[in-house]
Amino acid sequence: MASHIVGYPRMGPKRELKFALESFWDKKSSAEDLKKVAADLRSSIWKQMSGAGIKYIPSNTFSYYDQVLDTTSMLGAVPPRYNWTGGEIGYDTYFSMARGNASVPAMEMTKWFDTNYHFIVPELGPDVKFSYASHKAVDEFKEAKALGFDTVPVLIGPVSYLLLSKPAKGVEKTFSLLSLLPKIIPIYKEVISELKAAGASWIQFDEPTLVLDLDSQQLQAFTAAYADLESTLSGLNVLIETYFADLTPEAYKTLIGLKGVTAYGLDLVRGTQTTDLVKKDFPKGKYLFAGVVDGRNIWANDLASSLSTLQALEAVVGKDKLVVSTSCSLLHTAVDLVNETKLDDEIKSWLAFAAQKVVEVNALAKALAGQKDEAFFSSNAAAQASRKSSPRVTNAAVQKAADALKGSDHRRATNVSARLDAQQKKLNLPILPTTTIGSFPQTVELRRVRREFQANKISEDDYVKAIKEEIKKVVNLQEELDIDVLVHGEPEASILQRNDMVEYFGEQLSGFAFTVNGWVQSYGSRCVKPPIIYGDVSRPKAMTVFWSSTAQSMTKRPMKGMLTGPVTILNWSFVRNDQPRFETCYQIALAIKDEVEDLEKAGINVIQIDEAALREGLPLRKSEHAFYLKWAVHSFRITNCGVKDTTQIHTHMCYSNFNDIIHSIIDMDADVITIENSRSDEKLLSVFREGVKYGAGIGPGVYDIHSPRIPSTEEIADRINKMLAVLETNILWVNPDCGLKTRKYEEVKPALNNMVAAAKQLRTKL
Ligand code: GLN
Ligand code: ZN
Repeated sequence: MASHIVGYPRMGPKRELKFALESFWDKKSSAEDLKKVAADLRSSIWKQMSGAGIKYIPSNTFSYYDQVLDTTSMLGAVPPRYNWTGGEIGYDTYFSMARGNASVPAMEMTKWFDTNYHFIVPELGPDVKFSYASHKAVDEFKEAKALGFDTVPVLIGPVSYLLLSKPAKGVEKTFSLLSLLPKIIPIYKEVISELKAAGASWIQFDEPTLVLDLDSQQLQAFTAAYADLESTLSGLNVLIETYFADLTPEAYKTLIGLKGVTAYGLDLVRGTQTTDLVKKDFPKGKYLFAGVVDGRNIWANDLASSLSTLQALEAVVGKDKLVVSTSCSLLHTAVDLVNETKLDDEIKSWLAFAAQKVVEVNALAKALAGQKDEAFFSSNAAAQASRKSSPRVTNAAVQKAADALKGSDHRRATNVSARLDAQQKKLNLPILPTTTIGSFPQTVELRRVRREFQANKISEDDYVKAIKEEIKKVVNLQEELDIDVLVHGEPEASILQRNDMVEYFGEQLSGFAFTVNGWVQSYGSRCVKPPIIYGDVSRPKAMTVFWSSTAQSMTKRPMKGMLTGPVTILNWSFVRNDQPRFETCYQIALAIKDEVEDLEKAGINVIQIDEAALREGLPLRKSEHAFYLKWAVHSFRITNCGVKDTTQIHTHMCYSNFNDIIHSIIDMDADVITIENSRSDEKLLSVFREGVKYGAGIGPGVYDIHSPRIPSTEEIADRINKMLAVLETNILWVNPDCGLKTRKYEEVKPALNNMVAAAKQLRTKL
């Protein structure tokens, strides 16, 4: 009976690691305290997997911050600015690389494939001196062994490590990262030898980059690396784990041809074509670790269906060579359903978090071995059936309306330049109009009011009164600053963290559920708690109209309505797996469309629909980009295709590297787009320098809101001048990079004051 788990969340069921880390960083607890919490978490995870009957239990999937950074430490690839002097890497150096310290900034962080997990990007140049500088993998293997658990140590494979790295400063254009392969392989050999000496019989290399678009030289690197490792690996069973997408036929061929490898881990959830590859050609005598339990979402597995997939594969690879596994590490799902006190039993029966997925994997393995737990399978079948037929899931009217959108093209009737003219007549804005992105600082007072309202300590009337007062303050401030297009500041949204711009809407839409402890690691100690979209989405009643019209009634200047767009709501939620993503997105788009039209009716002439996460949803493989962008952009247009020419639609995005998707952004057909820009000025403006025509309004951020630094008027004017060199004067807007919720009023007031002064100064010169 063979079952395997690719990896497990480290945070703990109640985010124990987060709190231990933060208290250590704040110097409120010792390194020993932190070590103890970490060791307890590891042992409870091993115990749980072993108790559930899992045969191949991973070790070294725990991390204090990030598994890629752990690998950087293992290889001693510390960038010189951290002044590391050799020896075993300790907390100081490790956390300095992760978070920066008083004198040097952190290493760069970027998204782990298409998940919301962020890893620390290795910086490698020709001069790095690799050395075996972190024995973590071996230590954790030994630690488990001492507790009585025989584990499979997990390492990030050498080729994926290099492919996920970036060339160090100064050699960006010239350096081939793969040329470092011969230098890191010796360190891997040391680690492997120690693991063997410590009694390991299996080893797992995660090589997820095998699912990306790779050229033949990159594929060749895998062949070379494992050929080089072959003799050191002899005597071990070697598993190469891939995940997050299908393998191309070329990548599959490379994988099954690797020397010294005995087992292949494949994602059979995302990899919809992979089963066919296996059926066509699978090397005799090798193991298939079949990832049938989805590590990327929170749905209970359809056990009957998985079992039949597994039985078909068993016929190909042989009975004793099939191992049931998860599609990828469970790091990307929530930890344990047991701690969900607010979800009702019906919804709970449809769900499985990491702890439940471990049980599912084992149940499938037992069933394959002829020891099917009939009761478990039949309750699973009943839950699957209830999810299929529940009236809470299906809303025929919504499905019909969303269906009608397919294959159609929704656009506003008039083109953007004519619309901008009509809007200008109505809004009468100066050139270089100023605005902000939506949120204003969260004061202590505001947090208190919200907390007391949630705890039923103050009445709804008192809450509404307090929020209105807050809006009034924000409106008055913007008038004093002489900003042209105002915002209400978003005090009513529970904006304590980014995801709440989704939560606020999800809470008011049908088809969404919320967890209390469904946290997923985003980076370091930071976690997000995505809403769960379980059913057809509809909007029972208006969501923001009351607040926006209240705010508009306080000023004669235009007040922006403030909404989160459908693609962002989709990408920051756990979504249904019983219909394609685009169908769910269309449903959300229709709900937002109703809201947009209600705002317009209520006299709101400028409406911002944030699509902060549009780019995040880009599929891993280029061949799938066009399809995604088509329905994502279509969904956005659906939300506002019905408004009058005189209603101005804004959108906002929190990143500036959209050179590759600029045509899709233009195709969104918003009247005005505000975008983060100040951290990567050149990148964004270069698109326009290269001659891309942009006719709509555009506001590249003029200052970085992530920093407490207050930009001077001259500096902002300078930024605007740079933009004017590539963009027409009459389309340029002046605004910060993003919302101001993370800043203090002491910072926001002078910064906005300087921003308006810069715009005014330039107006007189144009
Ligand atoms: N309107 C939101 C705000 O200002 C946008 C946040 C975001 O783009 N992440 O907070
Ligand atoms: Zn933003």
